[in-house]
Amino acid sequence: MNYLNKKKIDTANPKYRPMSFAKKALEQGEGIVRLTPTWVPRSFCVPGRRIKLHPDDYYAFGGMRGGIDERWFASTTAAQNGPLTSKNEGLSHIALEDGGKVTLGLLKDAVEELGADLIGSRLWNEFKSWPMYSKFFDNMGPLPHHIHPSDEFGKLTGQNGKPEAYYFPPQVNNHGGDFPYTFFGIAPGTSKETILECLKNFNKGDNKITNYSQAFRLQPGTGWDVPPGMLHAPGSMCTYEPQKASDIFAMYQSLVNEAIIPDELLWNACPKNRWGDYELLLEMIDWDLNVNPNLMDNHYMEPKPVTNPAQMQAAGYQENWICYRSHDYSAKELTILPGQTAVITDAAAYGMIMMQGHGKMGVWDIETPSLIRFGQLTQDEYFVSEAAAKAGVKITNTSKSDPIVMLKHFGPKNPDLTVV
Ligand SMILES: [Zn+2]
Repeated sequence: MNYLNKKKIDTANPKYRPMSFAKKALEQGEGIVRLTPTWVPRSFCVPGRRIKLHPDDYYAFGGMRGGIDERWFASTTAAQNGPLTSKNEGLSHIALEDGGKVTLGLLKDAVEELGADLIGSRLWNEFKSWPMYSKFFDNMGPLPHHIHPSDEFGKLTGQNGKPEAYYFPPQVNNHGGDFPYTFFGIAPGTSKETILECLKNFNKGDNKITNYSQAFRLQPGTGWDVPPGMLHAPGSMCTYEPQKASDIFAMYQSLVNEAIIPDELLWNACPKNRWGDYELLLEMIDWDLNVNPNLMDNHYMEPKPVTNPAQMQAAGYQENWICYRSHDYSAKELTILPGQTAVITDAAAYGMIMMQGHGKMGVWDIETPSLIRFGQLTQDEYFVSEAAAKAGVKITNTSKSDPIVMLKHFGPKNPDLTVV
C-alpha cells in the first residue's frame, strides 16, 4: 500500500466532519427532538405525588434533598437548589437513538450549537438562548407567599427577573391537595409599613403576611398569570407553569403549613451585602400591581380557542390558549380527537408534554405513561424546532376512544398570540 499517497482529509470541510450529537438528533426526529424527564426536588416541600413518578422514587435524590415535587420541561435553566444541587439539575436532556443504544445530550448545548436551526432566527437573534421553560409543580400543601423580582432587581444578583403563569391540568388534578387556594397580592388599603413589619417579623415564628392578602379558589382547567413583583402563595393543585428562564425567588412568608421557612430564603434574591436591608425587600414588591382591586380581571385565565372551534372540530382537533397574558412565554392545550389525524402549524418553536392518549407525532411515537421510574425514558416530551412547527406537525390519534391531549410551551412574543 502506498501510504504516502493517502489523501489528507480536510477537517475544516463540514462534509468530512462527523455529525454532531445535536445535528443527528434533529435529523433523526425530522425537526423534533425527544426529551427525557427532568425531575427536581425541593427541600422545603412535601410532594403531592401526582406527577406519575413511582411511589418508591420520590426521594431518589436522597432524603436530605427533599422530595421530588417538580418536573421541568424544555429547560435550559439550571435549578438553584442550594449547595447539594446535583450536576445539570433542572436541565433537559435530548435522547438520541444511535446504533441501537440511547445517548443523552443537553438541550442547552443543542440550542447553543444549532441556534436558529432549532429555535428559529427570530428568537436566536434576540436572545442567543431558549429563554423560557415550563414545569409541573406538585405539592401536597401550599407554598409560602413569595415574590419573583423584576429584571431591575434580578440584576443585583446577576439574574433575570421572572414572570410565570399557572394552568391546572385536569389530568393530574383528581384531588387538589391540602389547600387548593392561591393567595395573590396585598389586600387594598394595606400600608407599606404593615408589610415592612411582617418582613421584620420573619424570624419570630408566623410573620402573618397572608393576613394582608386575599386567596382565590383554584379551578382545574383554568390558570393565572403572575408578573414579576407580584406576591403569590401557590396553592396545592398540581400546576403546569410556563415561565421566563430564571429561578430567582424570595420567600416572604415565614410559616406555612406549620413549617418554618429558613431565613436565607427571605434573602435569596438579595446580594449578600444587602442581607438585612428590609427596605430592599419592600422595593421588590410592585406595590400598585399588588393592591389592584381587580386582580381577577387582570390575571385570571380561562382557555380561549386559538381559532374557530367548529372549524377545528371538523379538522379533528381542538386547540386553546391556556397562558396568554405574558410577552415572555405562552402556552396552548392541543386535543386531537379519537381516530383523527391533524396537521398542526405554529409560527414558533415549542416544547410539549403529553397529558393524555397516545399516537404518532411526526416520526415519533407519543404516549402518556401512567407510572415512571426515576431515570426511565419516556415518549411524552419533545421539543419542536421552529422550522418543523412552521411546516406543520402531523399528529395521529390511534385510539378509538381516548383523545390525545398535550400542553405546548412557547418562548417570548409568540407571533400567533393575538387574543390578549
Ligand atoms: Zn412563584
